[in-house]
Amino acid sequence: MPIYEYHCEGCDSHFEVLQKVNADEKDLSCPHCGDKRVEKQFSAFATGGVQNQSSSRASSRSCGSGGFS
Ligand SMILES: [Zn+2]
Repeated sequence: MPIYEYHCEGCDSHFEVLQKVNADEKDLSCPHCGDKRVEKQFSAFATGGVQNQSSSRASSRSCGSGGFS
């Protein structure tokens, strides 16, 4: 789940909300003053998904079936 940063227009504070991607943010209110005039900030993107890219080494084992006669 990504963390979204919001700015409250009521008390001018920032807070972070952990929510689903398609979460309904209409019910969101400031945890400090309860104001619903909050707007999402896109600046601070928490590093949530450092994807482990399985480095697929091209370990091409040459099958030594090379015409040994
Ligand atoms: Zn507030």
